[in-house]
Amino acid sequence: MDTTDTVVPLVPDFHCLACGSDEGTVRIDEVEFEYGRGDRTTTLVAHTPIYICHVCQAEIIDKQGERAKHAAICRHLGILTPMEIYELRNKLDMSREEFAELTGLGTASLARWEAGSHPQNAAYDRLLRLLNVPGVVEALQGMVDAEEDHAPKLPQLRSLEVSPSLIEQSKHFELA
Ligand SMILES: [Zn+2]
Repeated sequence: MDTTDTVVPLVPDFHCLACGSDEGTVRIDEVEFEYGRGDRTTTLVAHTPIYICHVCQAEIIDKQGERAKHAAICRHLGILTPMEIYELRNKLDMSREEFAELTGLGTASLARWEAGSHPQNAAYDRLLRLLNVPGVVEALQGMVDAEEDHAPKLPQLRSLEVSPSLIEQSKHFELA
């Protein structure tokens, strides 16, 4: 049995805005919040990191708290969380640009979904989930390749004018 005291590690880069102390720890708390309007209001729970200053005992919630709330809302709505979208893209080993090229989604939308600043709608969420189905990524890649093949290439071929002499020539054309 471990008899040593459990030492909660200090948070690196901690800075208390109240007293200026650099020593603080973090704990994860279940924070309840209301989501929705009127009759549809639900209480959701977010596992939020709360930083505690060792000197003045101030409790601080940072951006991660907002992210935890956003993730709880995504789970409530049944859509992928920002982390799940990021992990999906990471699993495919694609940059945001490559992922955008494959799916036809915009890089700005992707950035918002991954950062948790704005959730994807149901249609986009289904598109994202489909990427986990075997063969879908390959099928999309096939579409992208086909589009590239059909894209107009410069310089374009000059169209041949069909002249009587050309028609005459074609009559005498034979395969060697
Ligand atoms: Zn403090």
